[in-house]
Amino acid sequence: MHHYEFFCHTCNRPFSKIQTPIEPDENKVVCPWCGSEEVEQRWFYLVAAKQSA
Ligand SMILES: [Zn+2]
Repeated sequence: MHHYEFFCHTCNRPFSKIQTPIEPDENKVVCPWCGSEEVEQRWFYLVAAKQSA
């Protein structure tokens, strides 16, 4: 799964969002705090399945 980190410029709060690669609304992220679309993607990383044998 992809873990995306965002920052809202409207309320100046960071938030994270976990999405699967098949999730279509990747480019339609809104702030969970205020609902603003003025968000900036900070970084993302892959959460690998480390527990696999
Ligand atoms: Zn916000």
